[in-house]
Amino acid sequence: MIPPGETIGILGGGQLGRMIAMAAAQLGYRCHIYAPEEDSIAAEVSAAFTRAEWDDAEAMTRFAADCAVVTYEFENVPVGPLAALGDVPLHPHPRALETAQDRLNEKRFVERLGGRPAPYAPVDSAADLAAAIATIGMPGILKTRRDGYDGKGQWRIMSAADAEGLDLPEQPLIYEGFVRFDAEFSVILCRAADGDIRFWETPRNVHEGGILARSSVPAPASIAGLVSEARTLAAKVADALGYVGVLTLEFFATADGPVFNEMAPRVHNSGHWTIEGAVTSQFENHVRAICGLPLGDTALAAKAVEMRNVIGDAAEDWPAILSDPANHLHLYGKAAARPGRKMGHVTRLVLA
Ligand code: AMP
Repeated sequence: MIPPGETIGILGGGQLGRMIAMAAAQLGYRCHIYAPEEDSIAAEVSAAFTRAEWDDAEAMTRFAADCAVVTYEFENVPVGPLAALGDVPLHPHPRALETAQDRLNEKRFVERLGGRPAPYAPVDSAADLAAAIATIGMPGILKTRRDGYDGKGQWRIMSAADAEGLDLPEQPLIYEGFVRFDAEFSVILCRAADGDIRFWETPRNVHEGGILARSSVPAPASIAGLVSEARTLAAKVADALGYVGVLTLEFFATADGPVFNEMAPRVHNSGHWTIEGAVTSQFENHVRAICGLPLGDTALAAKAVEMRNVIGDAAEDWPAILSDPANHLHLYGKAAARPGRKMGHVTRLVLA
């Protein structure tokens, strides 16, 4: 067990790290952020900041010397340089990063555990793409296998003309059949080192332009009937990875059951509502799990909860948001409000 007072290292300096650090502070821990960016909104609320490139082994070793345990808030942290952490425990295990960093690996891994993704095929050339379209059909989505997020690195292919007009990027890709879903949802769980798993209520997620716009609980009946199967798969994934911490799996709800979309080996945007809406938030339970503390209750703290993201210029509306006393506003302290950038979120609880 890592007792309060010790230092938790966090790889990555964005809003997820910031909210982990705030939950850690509440439990009496210090946090040390490691990130390559000059400005880190996680470092602003933490005790220490190492600004260094991922492959700077000397900086990584110095960082590890200050930490009792290390975690990550960013799933594209390169795995190789993490060897420089030496004996300091790293949770979740980096095999979760390796699995989730490549969409092809991730889908194959989940299929081996009984999960069902959309039909897919790896694409490394225009000929592969033509063959994938011939087998899987259209519409479909071409995605980069690595480094995609918030709808970036994705191309919708509705027609042969779309495919022919594409200037394929010089990196491994994957073509997926387009899933005609009723809704999207995510399973968010926390697994302790002793194998204890707790699930939060399953949110319905609405994406706009490939970016999460809203999450709400409880989910409608079309999702509720699929939760048990999706949770069983998520627990198998967590067990197979020897996972410690918060893990998220995203699904499409279809008439044929839950279709796996992707996993995130970390706290997740669709779980931000748990800060006010659950007895214990995803951030607090992540800290508890990686420090070997008992997990907190994940039950709902309200009858219903809705979280909506504050994206781009919408952050300027903060006075209007705060004029409704029922709104819990979270702003991440980002300086520039670029279009599509997640600037904060607002949570509302329905109590009665
Ligand atoms: P991703 O980054 O893969 O999670 O994609 C972002 C969003 O794009 C998803 O949450 C869906 O709304 C949509 N999307 C991605 N892949 C598919 C698919 N195969 N079929 C339908 N919609 C998709």
